[in-house]
Amino acid sequence: MTPLHTTDPDIAEFLESELERERQVLEMIPSENIVSRAVLEALGSVLTNKYSEGYPTKRYYGGNQFIDEVETLARERAKALFSAEHANVQPYSGSPANLAVYFALVKPGDTVMGMSLAHGGHLTHGHKVSITGTYYNAVQYPVGDDGFIDYDVVRALALEHKPKLIFCGATAYPRIFDFEKFRAIADEVNAYLVADMAHVAGLIAGGVHPKPFPHADVMTTTTHKTLRGPRGAMILCKREDRLHDIHHAGSKHDLATLIDRAIFPGLQGGPHNHQTAAIATTLKEAAEPTFKTYAENIVKNAKALAESLLNEGMTLVSGGTDNHLILMNLRPQNVNGAVIETALDDAHITVNKNSIPNDPAPPMKPSGIRIGSPTLTTRGFTEDDMRVVGQLIAQIIKAPNDVSVRESVKAKVAELTSAHPIYPNLSYL
Ligand SMILES: *Cc1c(COP(=O)(O)O)cnc(C)c1O
Repeated sequence: MTPLHTTDPDIAEFLESELERERQVLEMIPSENIVSRAVLEALGSVLTNKYSEGYPTKRYYGGNQFIDEVETLARERAKALFSAEHANVQPYSGSPANLAVYFALVKPGDTVMGMSLAHGGHLTHGHKVSITGTYYNAVQYPVGDDGFIDYDVVRALALEHKPKLIFCGATAYPRIFDFEKFRAIADEVNAYLVADMAHVAGLIAGGVHPKPFPHADVMTTTTHKTLRGPRGAMILCKREDRLHDIHHAGSKHDLATLIDRAIFPGLQGGPHNHQTAAIATTLKEAAEPTFKTYAENIVKNAKALAESLLNEGMTLVSGGTDNHLILMNLRPQNVNGAVIETALDDAHITVNKNSIPNDPAPPMKPSGIRIGSPTLTTRGFTEDDMRVVGQLIAQIIKAPNDVSVRESVKAKVAELTSAHPIYPNLSYL
């Protein structure tokens, strides 16, 4: 029972440095968050020791009575929170969860459709460098010139290409998804509708964004973004395969069984039980009234930040935000996202460079940055704080090479972070 700092002082040192970094910076990457002590404890637990291939009560290894309890509780909580008929909590992360959905529902070479990465979609929605754009005939839909999804365009592409599976969901889209419209389009071409809610799952759980069910057949989500849990993912779905006779005639399986079999034995081996326990705890936290307030505050804070940036003369894709993130178009400022990412980093504000829709600039020097509110909201930042943060970001954008501006922003960041501390008693040394 030798502690980490004795066994491996190098790693302990790096953990302490990362903890200090997280304490000191404004972490504004929209796909990140700060988990609770309870989630950290579950994640760092003895459950990592156990092999449990299979599902509760149907395992390939003995000694799983408590693992079964953990996984069953996680599944029940997931179903209740998202109004789902079935839940699989074993996916190692978001990308394998999506891959399992393809494996469950379509065959290599089949046509699938998702939002283009360049317009805010995820790699796993059919991008050409992803396995999903290589093994499947992937059709990609754009956003309209106003930055919003144009459902007429999505429908026209669907009618033209007849995908068997349509993904909705995104990683850089600041607006709300209309699941009813997506489902109507899916119905016209007999496609499955998969809602990948990785980014906004916490907003859905908190009741500030609409639920994909009953419109979607399947919902996938990561658990580590707005949901504020450990790195991991879930697949939620209906029980019945409503397109069984069209796409899976001859199969004896319902949709829930197709999904479960795609995760194990299709794609994965033993589940990460420590991760499952931490997901269960995350779902308990997300069902509490305080989480509803948290989700409301994420959106309020993103809107306050957007308003502040607009007041500073900045340009936002789609003109603002309905969720936890902002996509800023830096072209009017004649500067690229990579330069601003680095300049902000030096001032202790962490964001990521990002392409904007129809970006003429290359992906490594794109025209935008993506900024999110989940982490700062977890720290207790208010709308007033966010307006100040907006001013600080704008100061850097207007003078990315000015060292004195950078130093004054960094000092202001130190004030803000010390007013909203995290992990007060934690230390790895
Ligand atoms: C983050 C994300 C994923 C992938 O999650 P990883 O855990 O990074 O594999 C999938 N889809 C969307 C929409 C995402 O935002």
